[in-house]
Amino acid sequence: MNLTKRILIAMAAAIVLGVIVNLTASEGSGFHQFINDYLINGLLLIVGKAFVAGLKVMVVPLVFVSLVCGTASLNDTSRLGRYSVKTIGLYLGTTAVALAIAVTAALIIQPGAGIEKTTELAFQGKEATPFAQVIIDMFPTNPIQAMADGKMLQIILFAILLGFSISHSGEPGRRVANTFNDWNEVVLKLVAVIMHFAPYGVFALLFNTVAKEGFSEIVALGAYFFTVIGVLLVHALVVYPALLSVMAGVNPLTFLKKVRGVQTFAFSTASSGATIPVTLRTAEERLGVKNSLASFTVPLGATINMDGTAIMQGVATVFIAQMYGVDLGLMGILTVIATATLASVGTAGVPSAGLVMLSMVLTQVNLPVEAIALIMGVDRLLDMTRTAVNVTGDLAVTTTVAKWEGVLDEATFNDPKAGELEADDESSVKSS
Ligand code: ASP
Repeated sequence: MNLTKRILIAMAAAIVLGVIVNLTASEGSGFHQFINDYLINGLLLIVGKAFVAGLKVMVVPLVFVSLVCGTASLNDTSRLGRYSVKTIGLYLGTTAVALAIAVTAALIIQPGAGIEKTTELAFQGKEATPFAQVIIDMFPTNPIQAMADGKMLQIILFAILLGFSISHSGEPGRRVANTFNDWNEVVLKLVAVIMHFAPYGVFALLFNTVAKEGFSEIVALGAYFFTVIGVLLVHALVVYPALLSVMAGVNPLTFLKKVRGVQTFAFSTASSGATIPVTLRTAEERLGVKNSLASFTVPLGATINMDGTAIMQGVATVFIAQMYGVDLGLMGILTVIATATLASVGTAGVPSAGLVMLSMVLTQVNLPVEAIALIMGVDRLLDMTRTAVNVTGDLAVTTTVAKWEGVLDEATFNDPKAGELEADDESSVKSS
């Protein structure tokens, strides 16, 4: 059985068992106590945390080594400019489309109509960082510091500069490039090794979340919850496939099948950042995108491209406006689309970050930031689902730009088995 199937089975088992425990273990009972002490806060907590740590620990080495290799292999540096313009253009474009759909759906469905607004709400908002500071923060002053702090944009910039210098240094540059290429193989092998533990990690993370989640809150905020889920599904199953078939001319069904694995990682970790190793591996080995492009677009996407987050922010803003009886008007709606696009760019690829950045959008249209407290209770499941959409978006754009730039290996893309990890076959833990 291949690894993706095993992960999907682990996911289904975790959800079913988690729901059973959630509904049957009444607080204070011996069974509840046992599950809580030995599973949720014991074994499964350790397995889940260890698995996420295993993914996270690879992010910085992988992004750095892979991007240095990618840039060093570009003989023609003007390509990097073209990659950037096209990728960033598509990242922003797909986010704006996501928001337009989200806001329209929320205006039609009206999830906030008839919801009581509670008075005692408390939520700590986040001040928007001035735009100039955002740009200044992209420049690293100390590469080791940038890596230690996981500052992705700084790491990207430093890796590009280093790769560029390697490709322009003649023989010494070639020697350094060879070393980096060797390291790239080794780090990719490490990704494959850690991915083998995914069924256990995914089970632990999902069981714990589902068993602890309060389903009554989802029922109370059902209209909001299902509007977000509905738009997320439309975006993943209609907008991206349309982009891939119309603008890239590739088979969207093949794409959707191949990204299923990475979606399960994103869903269970709720972090695009932690999923980078799997996203990058999927782009290169499952979808056939050359390293020179994927090593740049994937970490960049995990940092700035969050269509799923934008969808939640769009629906949430309209929902809160309806709850407070505020008519946003056309200008308000356009403001929501523009600021939520920027807010999603500024959202870090870690759990719950999108909710914190929502305060930026609410402030722009004069809605109370405290209202976020109301939707917080149902955010975990939405966070997991939108993270899966976020990484799907990174891969859809990466594949499209790869096709445009002639760096998509279509034989790999169309081979259903390409890059697939077999669960019990050691020899399949390979990196190329
Ligand atoms: N968890 C999301 C991500 O990592 C960000 C968010 O909170 O929306 O992509």
